[in-house]
Amino acid sequence: MTPTSSASAKPLRVAVIGGGIGGLTLGLALRAHGLRATIYEQAAELAEIGAAVALSANATRELDRLGLGPALAAVSTEPTELIYRDGRSGARIAAHPVRKGGAYRARFGAPYYGVHRADLQKVLSGALAGEDLHLGHRLTALDQRGDAMALTFANGAEVEADLVIGGDGVRSEVRRWITGGETVRYSGTSAFRGVVPMGLLPSLPDPEAIQFWMGPDAHLLHYAIGRQADSVNFFAVVEGPERWTSERWLAGIAPGEHRAGFSGWHPAVIEMLDALPQTQRWGLFVTDPLRRWHRGRAVLMGDSAHAMLPHHGQGANTTIEDAVTLAELLAAGGARDLDGMMRRYQALRQTRTRTIQRSAWATNRLLHLPDAVGPSGLAQRDARMARFPEDFGWIHAFDTRVTVLEGAAGDSRAA
Ligand SMILES: Cc1cc2nc3c(=O)[nH]c(=O)nc-3n(C[C@H](O)[C@H](O)[C@H](O)COP(=O)(O)OP(=O)(O)OC[C@H]3O[C@@H](n4cnc5c(N)ncnc54)[C@H](O)[C@@H]3O)c2cc1C
Repeated sequence: MTPTSSASAKPLRVAVIGGGIGGLTLGLALRAHGLRATIYEQAAELAEIGAAVALSANATRELDRLGLGPALAAVSTEPTELIYRDGRSGARIAAHPVRKGGAYRARFGAPYYGVHRADLQKVLSGALAGEDLHLGHRLTALDQRGDAMALTFANGAEVEADLVIGGDGVRSEVRRWITGGETVRYSGTSAFRGVVPMGLLPSLPDPEAIQFWMGPDAHLLHYAIGRQADSVNFFAVVEGPERWTSERWLAGIAPGEHRAGFSGWHPAVIEMLDALPQTQRWGLFVTDPLRRWHRGRAVLMGDSAHAMLPHHGQGANTTIEDAVTLAELLAAGGARDLDGMMRRYQALRQTRTRTIQRSAWATNRLLHLPDAVGPSGLAQRDARMARFPEDFGWIHAFDTRVTVLEGAAGDSRAA
């Protein structure tokens, strides 16, 4: 079934720009309601570049409801614990059980997973089975024509839609049209990342835990991925460079440059950083908080609306929440009042995602504390890490469908 619009009861033409985590999830969530959308993805094939993603209960409960639970479990690792360590001595500062004792599932009602991005994409696109997905379509222009949106693609295609959903990531074309300008900003931090076979990491303590190794101006995060936990995804973040001059996310580095911020760190950290050749640095970009998520008949979701630093591991998870919210609202009659639907969607999503965005910035400071803060500053940080489940449980406990049904304006708890 296709959603119908207002008085004419004509089928509503929904165009989703971007076949990333958000676009694919939205396609599936709409289909679960018997609704259809057409997804336009710029890439000629869905081939995720390297690295992994951590999925928390606020997203895995939704993917499970979409029938993807078993397929996801088959390619994921549940971390044993969440551990914070001193990056240099390796001392355990705080630890919280995840898989251990079934603690995380018992508390949040759904699993926490480490999964290779390519595997997640396969699960999502496999379930969608290519239906309504148009590859090789890069959106280059949008235009409002009466109640419809005219879309132009780089391959020359032109289509009309009644509703355009911008799931086109942090450098979104749809956002440019909605806001009239660029709102993406370099965070002043950059990262090195990779997926390392477990066998190359003999020094790593607690190899199946998700671990933060913290130190001055840098941290290393890693977790195991795959059904057999046979690889480790790592993500090493450093302050700087001060300015990002490359046109792209990635900038080439000199040999050994990736290690500069980790001099004197624990051997397990150095071993991980050196396990694979590192040739590139990732700039970390965020969007400034947007006043409006929609204009005319176009609305944003995921990174296009709220790209955030990855320190709560919530970019993909909140994107999945957005997709499910949009599908719920459209299915609940939103197609008959698109302006009202988009206003309600923004009201439901803006506060929560802004709060997490802000909290991720604050977490960056905490993970990179300089020695100059002294013993009492470090003790305060350690106390915060020990309170992580109490302070941040609200992120994971969130249930999108309950929120939509209750009409609550997201979780506005300060971080
Ligand atoms: C290093 C790193 C680590 C991360 N780790 C985590 C994590 O552990 N947990 C987590 O929840 N999140 C994590 N994230 C964030 C997460 O990857 C993103 O938040 C998430 O992918 C956003 O989904 P999206 O669908 O909005 O965008 P994307 O997944 O980026 O998809 C956007 C899609 O739109 C397409 N597109 C772009 N422009 C156009 C156009 N003009 N026309 C047509 N198609 C277009 C792109 O090709 C792409 O397929 C991490 C991010 C980074 C950078």
